[in-house]
Amino acid sequence: MVRLRLVLKGVVQGVGFRPLVYRLARRLDLKGYVLNSEEGLVIEVEGEEERLEEFIRSIRNSPPPLSRIDEVRIERLEPKRYGEFLILESTQGERREVVVPKDVAMCEECRREILDPADRHYLYPFTNCTNCGPRFTIITDLPYDRKNTTMSVFPMCEACRKEYEDPLNRRFHAQPTACPNCGPRIFVADREGRILAGDWLRLTWTLLLEGKIGAIKGIGGFHIACDATNGKTVSLLRQRKGRDAKPFALMMRDLNTVRRYCVVSEKEESLLLSREAPIVILRRKGGSLPRSIAPNLDTLGVMLPYTPLHFLLLSGPLDVLVMTSGNYTDLPIVKDDGEAFERLYGICDFFVIHERAIENRCDDSVLQVIGDEVQLIRRSRGFAPEPIKVKRRTTKNILGMGGEMKNNFCILRKEEAYLSQYIGEIDSFEAEEYLKAAIETLKRMLKTPIDVVAFDAHPGYSSSSIAKELPAEVHLPVYHHHAHMTSVLAENGLEQAIGVILDGTGYGPDGHLWGFEFLLGGYTHFERLFHLAYVPLPGAEWAIKEPWRVATSYLLTYLGEEGAAFAVDLFGEERVELVRKMLEMGFNSPLSSGCGRLFDAVAALLNVCLKNTYEGQAACELSELAERGTCEDFYGYEIEADAILPHVILRGVLKDIRSGLPRELISLRFHNSIAQLILDLATRIRRERGLDVVVLSGGSFQNRYLLRKTKQLLKSGGFSVFSNRLVPPNDGGISLGQALIADRKICA
Ligand code: ZN
Ligand code: ZN
Ligand code: FE
Repeated sequence: MVRLRLVLKGVVQGVGFRPLVYRLARRLDLKGYVLNSEEGLVIEVEGEEERLEEFIRSIRNSPPPLSRIDEVRIERLEPKRYGEFLILESTQGERREVVVPKDVAMCEECRREILDPADRHYLYPFTNCTNCGPRFTIITDLPYDRKNTTMSVFPMCEACRKEYEDPLNRRFHAQPTACPNCGPRIFVADREGRILAGDWLRLTWTLLLEGKIGAIKGIGGFHIACDATNGKTVSLLRQRKGRDAKPFALMMRDLNTVRRYCVVSEKEESLLLSREAPIVILRRKGGSLPRSIAPNLDTLGVMLPYTPLHFLLLSGPLDVLVMTSGNYTDLPIVKDDGEAFERLYGICDFFVIHERAIENRCDDSVLQVIGDEVQLIRRSRGFAPEPIKVKRRTTKNILGMGGEMKNNFCILRKEEAYLSQYIGEIDSFEAEEYLKAAIETLKRMLKTPIDVVAFDAHPGYSSSSIAKELPAEVHLPVYHHHAHMTSVLAENGLEQAIGVILDGTGYGPDGHLWGFEFLLGGYTHFERLFHLAYVPLPGAEWAIKEPWRVATSYLLTYLGEEGAAFAVDLFGEERVELVRKMLEMGFNSPLSSGCGRLFDAVAALLNVCLKNTYEGQAACELSELAERGTCEDFYGYEIEADAILPHVILRGVLKDIRSGLPRELISLRFHNSIAQLILDLATRIRRERGLDVVVLSGGSFQNRYLLRKTKQLLKSGGFSVFSNRLVPPNDGGISLGQALIADRKICA
């Protein structure tokens, strides 16, 4: 007879661990108890040695689906002769160390129940269990108990309570558990807020089939939905939402439906079906869906239904819906009913609302598979705020504020980096308020004061102004591209590397807008070894919106009169003169070395895109052209001191345009040139500095072709190559980098 005391750490609470341990102990006839404590999950078991071994093996091999065991401590003790095995009440301070649980897509068993006419959850859109359902989005405070969720206002009925209290039931301590008898109700309303009579599901189907646009309250906010097969409605939605070309996300009934419209690899299938249920960017197949869903793109962003509500919605006559974020332009996603009626009035014809309040907004996550690696584009629902483990344990609590676009923030505590949900563009009062409130919420949940705030060094960022006003011991500005680089170091536990950072714009130490950078360094320092030569951006923000301006600026700056003549041919005398004047006077024309701007320029030269109606549009459309062909050619380039001169590339592009080469091939040659020059310069740095680890980051590496090609060349050149896997390569990843830099600079 032996008694063991086990302490499990990681994601072990609120995931159904206690009932699993209970069942296992009962089966093996072991005595003792299990409880949640501040330390983690504590188990005392006593019995025969062999059975105890089986007990431990079983826990290690088949833990609950949502758990993650990071550490198991085992202690041998004198037997106490327990009489039975019990689940004990949690001790004081429970879950202080604990991860805030994330939202989980509906599980198989719940799905079966909502389709079973004999089950009490039949057709109930808020069915959930310990293995699935809302978590982060309904939590008002920790510990994660029903009283600290927005479900607290719904007293459980007897049947629900019985399941909730039964350790052997799948709903044991499933905090949001509910049924048609006791849980939230769902309604359909017209745009004036009048509730429509009838069954919500049939009403919604009818309205959608009529071509109406609806606001549908989900788990982390509202979606705007319409029938994706109806081109007229999709165009109407574009018009009402004021969104010219930015692709709309789709929700499809099931994998078979996805396969009908898209090419899906095994890896992509498993991501679609995962508990995080993200939007996955897929290659579209043929043409039965309207082009207006994703104009000029060969890809579609697709997700599967992840709540019972969505599942029911897609179980009828419609199998593909547009499900785009319920917001107006770049404002935060709408989460409350009143807010929805007010903000989405002009966009939506009807509203599907319900009584379960959303406490924390959370947008859908977006990712793509490049080669065989997963790349996050937006890390939000299903991921946030699960922490990322970092190598070094910090001694302070550090807030990484993130950037101005695609903002999220990060709280680094001990060796865990808690990344917030997607906040978005910090360019409105609403977004600023959202950011501030979300920081307070995460601080409260983690019971963590902030000692150090790290923020982007850009003097004009609102996120940085907010950061400087937060109470803390230290406020530390961090350079944008250093943060990008460090995000990859942090993810991979690296100390130093050659950082190739390609993105749109970020403020550099020389006051110019950086974005095509060869850095060398680690957490506390970096050197800039090479960069793309600067070009003035005539009109600053305007130049970023209108690629023809950048193209003209490139031609005038680097190809002189030859370039001017070509620009006049392409864009007309008037536009070229405008740019020429601005450049001559240096009026509102900041200098940029951004990779995104070079892509914009080439896209404009090829007449792929003259106007960016969403961030990265031109580059995105240009990269899709590259995916359509194959070719290994590339243009040359020239280096002068530390600047990569673009005129060889530009001249090559112009020559190919004149000779009538297809745009696909020109785009490919251009992409290949960038990959080739990365290899050449990395090789030179390796020779001079003796480092052969390369990290790739920055929003331009969302370009699938560019990332694949660059990695392939670098790997065949003998480099170890790393890119972002756990956080986005775009500005959604810099909060992690900022926090890690602050830790190394400030904590001993
Ligand atoms: Zn479930
Ligand atoms: Zn009930
Ligand atoms: Fe960036």
